Amino acid sequence: AERTPDTYAPVEVGIYGVTKCFSDQVAVDGIDLQVHEGEFFSVLGPSGCGKTTLLRMIAGFADPDSGRIELDGVDMVGVPPYRRDVNTVFQSYALFPHMTVWDNVAYGLRRKRLRGAELRRRVAEHLELVQLARFAKRRPTELSGGQQQRVAIARALAARPRLLLLDEPLGALDAQLRKQMQIELMQIQREVGTTFLYVTHDQEEALVLSHRVAVMNAGRVEQVGYPEDVYERPSTRFVAGFIGTSNIMDVKVSDMDGEWLELTGGGVERLRAVLPDGHSARHGQQLSVTVRPEKLHLYDADGEEQPPPGWCSLAGTVADVVYTGMSTQYVVDVPGGDSLVAFVQNTRRISDAGTPGQPVRMAWDPEFTVVLDSPARGGAE
Ligand code: ATP
Repeated sequence: AERTPDTYAPVEVGIYGVTKCFSDQVAVDGIDLQVHEGEFFSVLGPSGCGKTTLLRMIAGFADPDSGRIELDGVDMVGVPPYRRDVNTVFQSYALFPHMTVWDNVAYGLRRKRLRGAELRRRVAEHLELVQLARFAKRRPTELSGGQQQRVAIARALAARPRLLLLDEPLGALDAQLRKQMQIELMQIQREVGTTFLYVTHDQEEALVLSHRVAVMNAGRVEQVGYPEDVYERPSTRFVAGFIGTSNIMDVKVSDMDGEWLELTGGGVERLRAVLPDGHSARHGQQLSVTVRPEKLHLYDADGEEQPPPGWCSLAGTVADVVYTGMSTQYVVDVPGGDSLVAFVQNTRRISDAGTPGQPVRMAWDPEFTVVLDSPARGGAE
């Protein structure tokens, strides 16, 4: 997604210290989030982490136990859903089966007392937007899943809400259609400029679609950032593990040189990392670091080509090789550490590193070592 100056735009959705419990369970646990006008903002997290509960409170279907939700700077406590300038698109399209596509889109507008030429113009405009103009006379049962979801989106947008909430809207579609609809949704959002708050457990979807992403775990927000932030610089062990594949190492600070940390552990011969902004470290401190598999380079252990000096580097043995088309996944056992995973683009052949049992050298630019916030949690991952 392109980076826009959205965070300079006014706050559209302000969530301040919001908590929601169900009997003995905390579903949403003290969340702070600000979504800006015109943003495509995703809430990403595993099943049961509280995404839907958060969305329902923003829509007004449930009230927080504590904390405050503001839309456009106005406190929403006690404001019923229909008085909020918000529409929701659900995974189940919730279309009226006995009405045509045209009438489905017109429904909310008629209730808003739009009539005649203006009604027709508004419906036509939104059917055009989702590329369904020629299906206007069909009923939902005569449409594919993807087309039905586009009707639901047109219906939700036709009322021109300030904010559109989308709860796993592509969840019922097959993988290929889902990919196509992702692109369409993104284009629609960029075209209309309505603020989208999108809930998904699909990390790739969140990275592809969003201006910014909030990663949730067990009722809390663990990180908010641009897609490349949460992927390239995950701030916690959970984020590193939930988005993509990660090599996590528990290590100790052995030296410090300005912003650079020298680390020992994980079977790595030379391990360095930049201390993240706003963090401090001390000698002997235990911490966790991670490096993404595609940042790792493989070398024949006794080949001519060796990693540049200054890179993080270790010796290991290939344990497993999985060809995945675009890349090959190597699992390398590291003496004195865990196994590490490397993704190597299949743009060239790795001469002899390709078989289990081969001794290899693994290395990466220390710029790509990421220090994680949370201390090692007793092996939990
Ligand atoms: P999913 O992706 O599976 O929809 P989610 O992240 O949207 O999950 P929520 O539906 O918000 O998660 O649920 C958060 C937690 O609160 C869950 O443990 C769920 O069991 C619980 N919960 C949600 N709604 C209720 C309810 N009405 N009564 C009791 N517990 C609930």
